[in-house]
Amino acid sequence: MPGIDNSPKIFTPNNLHDLLSLASEYPDSLLFAGGTSIMQKWSKPEFELPEYIIDCGKIEDLKKIKRTERYLEVGALVPLSKIIGIGIHVIPKGLYQAVSLTAIPTIRQLATIGGNIYIGSPYSGILTVLYAMDSFLELRSFQKSMWVSLSELIIKTEKQRNLIPPGYILTRIRIPLGNWNHQIFKKIARKKSQAHGSLTFCGLAKTSKGILTDIRLCFGSLGNHLFRHRGFEAGMLGRKLPFNTKSIDTMISQLNQLLHPITDRYSTSEYRKTTSMRLVQWFLEELGRILI
Ligand SMILES: Cc1cc2nc3c(=O)[nH]c(=O)nc-3n(C[C@H](O)[C@H](O)[C@H](O)COP(=O)(O)OP(=O)(O)OC[C@H]3O[C@@H](n4cnc5c(N)ncnc54)[C@H](O)[C@@H]3O)c2cc1C
Repeated sequence: MPGIDNSPKIFTPNNLHDLLSLASEYPDSLLFAGGTSIMQKWSKPEFELPEYIIDCGKIEDLKKIKRTERYLEVGALVPLSKIIGIGIHVIPKGLYQAVSLTAIPTIRQLATIGGNIYIGSPYSGILTVLYAMDSFLELRSFQKSMWVSLSELIIKTEKQRNLIPPGYILTRIRIPLGNWNHQIFKKIARKKSQAHGSLTFCGLAKTSKGILTDIRLCFGSLGNHLFRHRGFEAGMLGRKLPFNTKSIDTMISQLNQLLHPITDRYSTSEYRKTTSMRLVQWFLEELGRILI
């Protein structure tokens, strides 16, 4: 007796219009971008084989990178290796560093930036930087297209998983360049290529005539959500650099009150908190040295 074939039906659209049309016709289909996360789940017994898969591999429209004076725009299907390939002089330094410290080269050839954002991991270094840079995401369905702020999605999404609302496909990421005078990304993990670690941190700062005019401090791996506190950032604006020891101490003790990291199998709450405060202290001291 012939067996029942329950292998998924695979669609391979050639362009964005066909992708959106298929996604609308088969709303329960699984979108396959680079497949790195899907293949990890596929090997687990609880993985339910989808009825339909939409393979996005041929959609060249979503594999483009464009830079203007004000922003960098990256197609959702751009593999991480391509972002690094463009180079540190074109890509914001913090983003370049975060992408370079994501996974290993063979995975980065496949893994897309859109897939990383969709997963929404609070451990993601890429998300830590995109959140600090106030990035925007273009979401599309067959009927609708909109730009939404990544911050809004991060704040709204419970447990910060599956950031893209159902029925939408992430098509482009717009990253304001911001003309930062100083930007850094740090990842603290046992192995730099590890998806989960103790901490990710992005610090951005802008100065004019020795005055701090903008600052962003964003942390990943502290809990269910990435951490950024706009009030804490705003409290530093308009101050003259370098900060003296007393004002740095005051800021660090304020941060101490705001941070409530978790303990998990990758790190302890105490270690995460101490390391976060040390990194911010170092960043603030650096500002004084670099920017005056
Ligand atoms: C060995 C390994 C190491 C890793 N290390 C790190 C690390 O150090 N740091 C880190 O942050 N991450 C890490 N990751 C995660 C990695 O970045 C993601 O697996 C990858 O970016 C997902 O992209 P993808 O194209 O492979 O997505 P896929 O596996 O194809 O898809 C993942 C999910 O996203 C959905 N999706 C994909 N694209 C879109 C889109 N455009 N619109 C809507 N939904 C979409 C898919 O439907 C699916 O549900 C690691 C992964 C592996 C396998």
